Amino acid sequence: MTLLRRKSGRSLAHLHWLFCRSLPGALKMLYAHTMEFKVPELEREPVNFDLELKPGAIDFGDEAEQMGNLATSGSAEVIHEHRGPKEIVPDIRLRGRFAGQFQVPCARCIEPVEIPLAAEFDLIFRPIGADSEPPERSITASETEIGYYQKDSLLLEDVLREQVLLSLPVRTLCKPDCKGLCPRCGANRNTQACSCEVGPNDPRWEALTGLRGRIKS
Ligand SMILES: [Zn+2]
Ligand SMILES: [Zn+2]
Repeated sequence: MTLLRRKSGRSLAHLHWLFCRSLPGALKMLYAHTMEFKVPELEREPVNFDLELKPGAIDFGDEAEQMGNLATSGSAEVIHEHRGPKEIVPDIRLRGRFAGQFQVPCARCIEPVEIPLAAEFDLIFRPIGADSEPPERSITASETEIGYYQKDSLLLEDVLREQVLLSLPVRTLCKPDCKGLCPRCGANRNTQACSCEVGPNDPRWEALTGLRGRIKS
């Protein structure tokens, strides 16, 4: 299935957090598929689900870490899209909701912040190749809720991963007045004072100061 892209820039602090997070990544266990919706089965009858997923059941990558169980419930059904006398496209409609606790990095100091995430979704997935245009291009502003599935089936974990990541706040702070990291020595200014704040003594600053002096004269 083709996932919708999340539009967000990545700050340097976030990249640093990604690097730190990648260290124990090799130890992550392989996980079993949470649930697979197969078109032939959905053609017979809609499927309902009501699950409590343990941390690790879904790999959320480096943007969020699941804390505790993730509750999700909903239903999947096939909707036949009639495009002509002979062309019937079997779409999967997936409706549901999720709720759980997650840890994300503070946008300023990259310390982990625990936040609740919950959302409802109502999504349509077309078989990949059903649209003449390549999938990525056919997603327009009015079609943002349409995804694609491959080989007659859709994995719930793929949908949940996408929905959880889409529900992330654009910017999370550990506290409204987080002082962030020192851009020069990297110290967390919430917990330690560094001597960098005293004044610019970097040779590059001196060059700038000198330049300013020349402009004034
Ligand atoms: Zn912070
Ligand atoms: Zn510093």
